[in-house]
Amino acid sequence: MIEQRIQQLRQQLQKANYAYYVLDNPIMEDAVYDQLYRELDQLEKENPHLITSDSPTQRVGDKPASQFVSVDHNIPLYSLENAFNLDELKTWKKKWRRYSEQENIESTAYVCELKIDGSALALTYENGLLVRGVTRGDGTTGEDITQNIRTIRSIPLKLNLDNPPPIIEVRGEAFLPIDEFDRINQQREEKGEALFANPRNAAAGTLRQLDPKIVDERRLQFFAYTLHLETGEISSQWDSLNYLKNSGFLVNPHRKLCHSLLEVTDYFQQWETDRKDLPYMTDGVVVKINDYSLQKVLGFTQKFPRWAIALKYPAEEAPTMVKDIIVNVGRTGAVTPMAVMEPVHLAGTTVQKATLHNSDRIKQLDIRVGDTVIIRKAGEIIPEVVRVLEELRPPNTQPYQMPDRCPECDSTLKRPPKEAVTRCINLSCGAILRGSLVHWASRDALDIRGLGEKIVILLINNGLVNSIADLYNLTPEEIANLERMGSKSANNLIEAIEGSKQQPFSRVLYGLGIRYVGSVTASLLVDNFTNIELLSQASFSDLSSVYGVGEEIAQSIIDWFSIEKNCDLIQQLKKVGLQLEVTQSKIATFDPSLTPFAGKAFVITGTLPTLKRNEAKALIMEAGGKVTSSVSKKTDYLLLGENPGSKLAQADKLSITQLNEEEFLKILKSE
Ligand code: NAD
Repeated sequence: MIEQRIQQLRQQLQKANYAYYVLDNPIMEDAVYDQLYRELDQLEKENPHLITSDSPTQRVGDKPASQFVSVDHNIPLYSLENAFNLDELKTWKKKWRRYSEQENIESTAYVCELKIDGSALALTYENGLLVRGVTRGDGTTGEDITQNIRTIRSIPLKLNLDNPPPIIEVRGEAFLPIDEFDRINQQREEKGEALFANPRNAAAGTLRQLDPKIVDERRLQFFAYTLHLETGEISSQWDSLNYLKNSGFLVNPHRKLCHSLLEVTDYFQQWETDRKDLPYMTDGVVVKINDYSLQKVLGFTQKFPRWAIALKYPAEEAPTMVKDIIVNVGRTGAVTPMAVMEPVHLAGTTVQKATLHNSDRIKQLDIRVGDTVIIRKAGEIIPEVVRVLEELRPPNTQPYQMPDRCPECDSTLKRPPKEAVTRCINLSCGAILRGSLVHWASRDALDIRGLGEKIVILLINNGLVNSIADLYNLTPEEIANLERMGSKSANNLIEAIEGSKQQPFSRVLYGLGIRYVGSVTASLLVDNFTNIELLSQASFSDLSSVYGVGEEIAQSIIDWFSIEKNCDLIQQLKKVGLQLEVTQSKIATFDPSLTPFAGKAFVITGTLPTLKRNEAKALIMEAGGKVTSSVSKKTDYLLLGENPGSKLAQADKLSITQLNEEEFLKILKSE
């Protein structure tokens, strides 16, 4: 089993290496590669008898492509050991301390540099003149690309030194600034050529161009970071960077000399955020021991220097293994399949579950229990499975079948024609009740503090609550008798439930969980139908003629009120005292015809700094204005955010008044 996994990992990594180093066209994310590599490395460490010399763990990079002349490096270009968190950085320190017998290591300084995401080059200068430039290749042998390198403006052809040493070797990173990368890809798109996956591969591909004119056109840049000087006059990394700068090289200005791992950590954390403002890509920071004599003592492993480490930024994609596939029934009865996985670190959190969306997506992915999959978590979004690494699939797996019965209530699941979602349509299903109660209590709905999913489950399991209305008949004693609930928390909860009776009609409407009726739609509806009777009796055309309420929403409202159980619920909620109409004070004070935006037509374009689109829309409509989707002569205002679309040009053409968010809010508040 282990032998097979090792074999599969090697094949997959070799394929990835070839695509990455030779074709400059990666087939997976770097973070995914790194983690699979780590798994292989770990398995080989635990089973050293299985190590073979052709394993990707045993060499750096890949054989260079053949268009250029191969040259052996005088001094190998090593890779860097990776650390993915601060604990690993501490482990690195412990390791190198073991190798070193120096006494003053507590005062060791570290040079922190940004890890530029480009391609490493080795440049040789003889008597101050550039004579050779070679790619890193496999670390031992690279390609002579001197002609191309001569086109890079930040690489001096002649060193800016009065008495240059007979020979020096300079290493650094050739890279493409992000806007240059975008320009090249745009050009390629126009010509129908394949796009580069990222600036790093674009830089590597450019350096290997046979025509130096193309290289010249592509404006590569170069940061120097390593100096090999035989004279012995330089004794630290920090001094070498200054030497390089004085010799005429571009040296990254964000380097920092740190005197403790704490300072290193601060530097890393600062750049984890600030890197987004840099005009080039970085994928971590490189930490190097400053003192050359200590570097010498520590030396190299087969692959990397012991005196340096790359601290990489947390990944948004990672591989992991699927342990199980389960389905989750939500409050609308939607059945969502989820993958349960080996826990994995992703974008700063540990992830164990990822959504598989629906049965179509499962079919498309062909995901199976036992598969190694790539999951992604960008920003706050729920993690999702991006794809399956089929090469790593164990034998005898079976395609996954969605269940045809509800895992909660055992009723037959339905998938309406033309819909992707499978649903449980049993209104008494425990999962639907649970979801409805949690939604009812949520912040944007009735905002009942203390009524989270755990308490909801306890209330249902103890037979205390069978519908939303039952919440309002609970007694403090009943709640206090529940597991881990004291009389104080019981009283607090009762108070919070009582308090919810003061919430306005729009929140109650949102809390009912009618499909497609979000909080903005609920506000629109109550502005037009001021009590629940008017809403429940509204016809399809009454509903769909409300601005912002489409046909889908209208139909969903009609369907909801056609179910007897829902109408009973409304009666019960009315009886216990929830707000099912707009209060008179609101109707009396609200007169849209008096606001500065009354009757005005707005178009919104771009991203607004604080307001979401829906919020801006709701504000305009509350002020008696309307929002349309395209600019015409009838448009009164263009509400303008960042990265506007073509609507801005159209508005300019028609001389439509433009407001930014701040101006908009100022006028709104001055009403
Ligand atoms: P590396 O990229 O992790 O680190 C070493 C490299 O960092 C150096 O060669 C140099 O090019 C660069 N670097 C940037 N700034 C530096 C600085 N200030 N000082 C020193 N070096 C600096 O290691 P690697 O051996 O070049 O490549 C291995 C990495 O490549 C893997 O960790 C993986 O992320 C990626 N890779 C990805 C795939 C894929 O399929 N996506 C395949 C193979 C390798």
